[in-house]
Amino acid sequence: MPGGVHYSWGQITDARRAAPGAGAAPEAIGAVAFRCKGAEPTVKVTRVESIVLMGRYHFVRVHTDEGISGVGEVSPMNAGVTHAMVEKALAPIVVGKDPFDIETIWHQMFHRPYKLGPTGAQLEAMAGIDIALWDIVGKASGQPVYKLLGGAFRSDAEVYASSMLRTMTPQEEAERALSFKEQGYRAYKIHSATPWMYDTGHDQTLDTVREMRKLVGDDFGILVDVNNAYLPHTAIKMARRLEEYGVWHFEEPIPAYDYAGLAQLADAVDIPIAAGEQEYQRWQFRDLILQARVDILQVDVIKCGGITEFKKIAALASTFDKPITVHNTQPTVGTLAHLHLWVSTPSCIYPQEYNIEPHPLRDDTPIWKEPVLVEKGRMRVPDRPGLGVELDDTVVERLRG
Ligand SMILES: [Mg+2]
Repeated sequence: MPGGVHYSWGQITDARRAAPGAGAAPEAIGAVAFRCKGAEPTVKVTRVESIVLMGRYHFVRVHTDEGISGVGEVSPMNAGVTHAMVEKALAPIVVGKDPFDIETIWHQMFHRPYKLGPTGAQLEAMAGIDIALWDIVGKASGQPVYKLLGGAFRSDAEVYASSMLRTMTPQEEAERALSFKEQGYRAYKIHSATPWMYDTGHDQTLDTVREMRKLVGDDFGILVDVNNAYLPHTAIKMARRLEEYGVWHFEEPIPAYDYAGLAQLADAVDIPIAAGEQEYQRWQFRDLILQARVDILQVDVIKCGGITEFKKIAALASTFDKPITVHNTQPTVGTLAHLHLWVSTPSCIYPQEYNIEPHPLRDDTPIWKEPVLVEKGRMRVPDRPGLGVELDDTVVERLRG
């Protein structure tokens, strides 16, 4: 870090031990001590760069006056809105701040634009900035993010193959599942019904599960996601049939906002009920646990306000002995941020979601210089400082807009 403060955990520990009011001489404490006293930050965020690629994929780069920048990702599909949220509502809060002050920055991003939130686009946009700040702190301290989060509980993370297509026949889906089993995956998820259709949509869940079980055998995990397709009484009947096929988890069986219906279902059946991709912050997850009584929490770091809020939700999950199997659709920076969380979060005990569909920023024009990919159903977390990847500027410029 030319010309600036070299942050290290040793310095910070020394500073906290010595100051303020502990009698140590300021020169023995270093510049970090002045930060502890609430003085002007010694490293500042100079710019929050909102990057929309191909009109859909949204990344954030946060730049500092020390020459270090960090990268984060925002949940896709509404990039025009989240782009405005980053640029108009959040960037003015973040520019000028010390990137090490992640908790206070998160607090201000959450509370100041209170008329715009506190779920959805606001938390998704916050996620992009928050993840980038963790990347900066990792780079500035020479540590990978998972080390900042307390270190690795596991050396790598197992993922399951998440099939997002709804156009395959049951037989085709079963054959695809088998091909992923042969690649080393131990579980596979289907999306097998029309989302949000209250019992009236197309549904080939049972046919697909039956074909899959025949082909992949009993030693392979089948996960079923119906994206809020059923009413509670239908979901209960379906859950009992899925139990017969040894399906591992049953995801978003009924409309996500119907916590009473989810509780009715969760109490009636044994198959684990999974939900959480419609929840954005710890208070919603508290209600998902206490009111909806679901079994598996599906937090998404690029929706839930970033790593800072994910940690709090993980603490809540641990308190109630709820495993986390994340919602994870973006196999680029979002997956990488998740990867640091998967290895460092005790509650991430089951295989985590990995999108197996073609993705232009992973497959056609990779946006990162050192891709982090799946090998035999597992992902190894990079040991480089920060998240461990840099965006490829050439690709960013070519695809911007
Ligand atoms: Mg889902």
